[in-house]
Amino acid sequence: MHFGLTDEQQMIVDTVRTFVENEIYPHEDLVERTGEVPKEVADEIKRKTIELGFYACNFPESVGGAGLSHLEFALVERELGRGSMALNHFFGRPQNILMACEGDQKDRYLLPAVRGERMDALAMTEPDAGSDVRGMKCTAVRQGGDWVLNGSKHFISGADHADFFIVFVATGVDETTRGPKKRITAFLVDRGTPGFEVREGYKSVSHRGYKNCVLNFDDCRLSHAQVLGEVDGGFAVMNEWLYATRITVATMSVGRARRCFDYALSYAAERKQFGQPIGKFQGVSFQIADMITEIDAADLLTLNAAWRLDQGLPANREIASAKVYATEMLARVTDATLQIYGGMGLMNDFPIERFWRDARVERIWDGTSEIQRHIISRELLRPLGA
Ligand SMILES: Cc1cc2nc3c(=O)[nH]c(=O)nc-3n(C[C@H](O)[C@H](O)[C@H](O)COP(=O)(O)OP(=O)(O)OC[C@H]3O[C@@H](n4cnc5c(N)ncnc54)[C@H](O)[C@@H]3O)c2cc1C
Repeated sequence: MHFGLTDEQQMIVDTVRTFVENEIYPHEDLVERTGEVPKEVADEIKRKTIELGFYACNFPESVGGAGLSHLEFALVERELGRGSMALNHFFGRPQNILMACEGDQKDRYLLPAVRGERMDALAMTEPDAGSDVRGMKCTAVRQGGDWVLNGSKHFISGADHADFFIVFVATGVDETTRGPKKRITAFLVDRGTPGFEVREGYKSVSHRGYKNCVLNFDDCRLSHAQVLGEVDGGFAVMNEWLYATRITVATMSVGRARRCFDYALSYAAERKQFGQPIGKFQGVSFQIADMITEIDAADLLTLNAAWRLDQGLPANREIASAKVYATEMLARVTDATLQIYGGMGLMNDFPIERFWRDARVERIWDGTSEIQRHIISRELLRPLGA
């Protein structure tokens, strides 16, 4: 067993850390203030990421990516997690579900996405179908050789910039002993397709500038060539490609917690009350001790889950544990840091209130904490018949 990084892995960490500090941090205040990422800033981040050879680093070299392993990609995401989500969105990591593209879908979607020419967004969630993905009401019906989509999606991240969308819709229903079960198919939908509209979404307290949108489909006609994977095989492509994305949420949470922790540590050492640094008070110093212990634990859980994927070992439970622990750890660390800052923690003179707000969504998206606990407990109890 070896817990250190290889020289190459350390180089990845150093390169991305330097990028985040030089290219992301300087724009964060502007994004917080305006809720927007100026186009020229987005383009510049994208251009520099491509130059660095890190654009689409989660894709294999055979399609033009950097061919990083799951573990190496987790290290990249950990460093990116330190910076603003709205800005690091342009350090492009397209959805690796695009590897399911076949035939000329590769030229129209996969390769341009990897080259940074076209951006994607992934649409599963609906107003009445969040955790219960199979409850979706958005449908696609076969008409002649085409498909006709109706319904809507909401909370779709990055849809404001996306050139195309990977959309999951119901294409049928099976009657099972446990009740009706929807069949799901994934479609590739270009922005501007008649009958498809992208509308402004809700304002979130987390990750200002990282927008979510509403998608509406009103008799939106797609050719059969837009089906990604197999008809009714949406769950298969989802399971093959998407379950690893929960590691991203976990590892970004670790990165952000470490950045936040550095603020807590410095403030505990510098801020004086009753004639001494507040870090001398056990009420503060023990919080520091708990924070670093939890951050390290989350880091190890997360890297272990990524390593298991690289080894081809089962990792579903480990990924769920990493996601639930790292995101809840981030909530505790940002809250404790705010407490250590006292009243100043709530003021926007420091980024602490932002870390605290941003932490909230991590326990919700990509499967809530409750759903992760469900995955963990089912995997342990099902073999015992419970
Ligand atoms: C800012 C933001 C961006 C997002 N981006 C995207 C995106 O790009 N693409 C996309 O498809 N989706 C996206 N999502 C959707 C996200 O994945 C869902 O919000 C999430 O899956 C939860 O669904 P919900 O919000 O409808 O909550 P619900 O599913 O309605 O859950 C409400 C509560 O009930 C609990 N609950 C539900 N079922 C169970 C159960 N079986 N056992 C125990 N508790 C349960 C939940 O844990 C939660 O506490 C985004 C969400 C947000 C907030």
